Amino acid sequence: MIESPLLEKLTGYIGGRWTDNEHGNTFDVYNPATGKVIAQVASMSEEEVNAAIASGKSALRLTSPYSIETRRKWLEDIRDALKANKEEVGRILCMEHGKPLHEAQGEVDYAAGFFDYCSKHIQALDAHTIPEKPKDCTWTVHYRPIGVAGLITPWNFPIGMIAKKLSAALAAGCPSVIKPASETPLTMIALFSLMDKHTDMPDGMVNLVMGKASVIGKALCESPDVPMLSFTGSTEVGRKLIVDTAEQVKKLALELGGNAPFIVFDDADLDAAADNLIANKFRGGGQTCVCANRIFVHEKVADAFGEKLAERVNKMTVGDGINGDVDIGPLINQAGYDKVKRHVQDALEKGATLVAGKKPEELGNDLFFPPTVVHGVNRDMCCYQEETFGPLVPMALFRTEEEVIEAGNDTEFGLASYVFTNDAERAQRVAAGLRFGHCGWNTGTGPTPEAPFGGMKASGIGREGGLEGLFEFVEAQTVPRGF
Ligand code: ADP
Repeated sequence: MIESPLLEKLTGYIGGRWTDNEHGNTFDVYNPATGKVIAQVASMSEEEVNAAIASGKSALRLTSPYSIETRRKWLEDIRDALKANKEEVGRILCMEHGKPLHEAQGEVDYAAGFFDYCSKHIQALDAHTIPEKPKDCTWTVHYRPIGVAGLITPWNFPIGMIAKKLSAALAAGCPSVIKPASETPLTMIALFSLMDKHTDMPDGMVNLVMGKASVIGKALCESPDVPMLSFTGSTEVGRKLIVDTAEQVKKLALELGGNAPFIVFDDADLDAAADNLIANKFRGGGQTCVCANRIFVHEKVADAFGEKLAERVNKMTVGDGINGDVDIGPLINQAGYDKVKRHVQDALEKGATLVAGKKPEELGNDLFFPPTVVHGVNRDMCCYQEETFGPLVPMALFRTEEEVIEAGNDTEFGLASYVFTNDAERAQRVAAGLRFGHCGWNTGTGPTPEAPFGGMKASGIGREGGLEGLFEFVEAQTVPRGF
């Protein structure tokens, strides 16, 4: 079992207190590297979720709002607490997610960056008077907190994803009811321990509920006291939330699946493209929504690029992330592992060739999937159509710019995309043609606190990060004054 000063309680947090878990229901949390149970965490009832919503409602202040200074202090305190406890939060994250320790601790810094950014830009949420005087009135625009927000996060960035949402919600003055993924609740509990000890937020401002997604999701969707849900996860669940909140017309911020194209033109710096692809693709073991999922390489450089990839991939180490410097940890669970295996098998059966990695029949019985590169991929293959969410690099050929823009867009998703070329005009054309919220030019880098990030098409609604993200949890209210 995991021991940590940040995990003294393994229950929910409602109204400024840890809950008692009266029902005694729990669920197991596993370390994917060892397959062992490391904690048993409270699984909460519908009544408890409703109590969390009620407590959030009691912390909402409309007529005497929390000042900008007060909200900025909350954000700064969380940022500082995360930075001061980066090693321990990272260790907990590594043990329940499996990603290498240095990546896990880096994620804590990344999370602190969102609180930092919001604290430094919160002034943008202050009221302002518009310069024109239409209709003989003086018009003031206020940014009101939308109300209690339900924040639902996935397991792939246990601290990064909540940081994006919570920083903007607190900046807006919105109380929240937070549900982590059941694979990774411990990092969230650690965050709540830090907020409990190191911040002076009113009771009910942040509430933690854990357990069955169906129970918690239903309560959040049905409660008239929760006007907004911010969700990161699968498109399938995102669609369900749209349907389940339609009647009340709730505001939704959705960051859903991706199927990122990574395009390498024949004039690109192939070494830099290969290095960037490795860093992008194998982060979190390939389990991120911005990981390159379809690699389109110009036919003239495909063999050379494949060799560069194989050279790099063959040097990568796979193992328990807690033991020093491995490159890739285990996949999150058996279902995740089986999906990657199915994608490799399907590609090979349909004519792709293995450039690096193991054949499916050579794989072991744990959750450590070797980094794998396949060549000769086409749109009939599962790895082209679906997000693999694992360490598989599927390469396809292209000949022309028009053809590759069309191929890149040949998906219902539109989250991240990447283009490698040394021709600036071509890069501008391709970025404009790709219907993706993020398009890296000669970089495989993903989101950052300073810039808006989010999806087009079925990849979601809304933006996180940047000023756009700061405005997600407010309602603009105009007050024209007549006399
Ligand atoms: P993933 O495939 O990354 O696990 P999911 O969409 O299944 O993505 O889960 C993302 C988050 O959404 C998790 O916290 C999960 O428990 C939660 N979730 C799953 N189903 C629902 C639902 N019906 N309502 C609300 N939240 C849900």
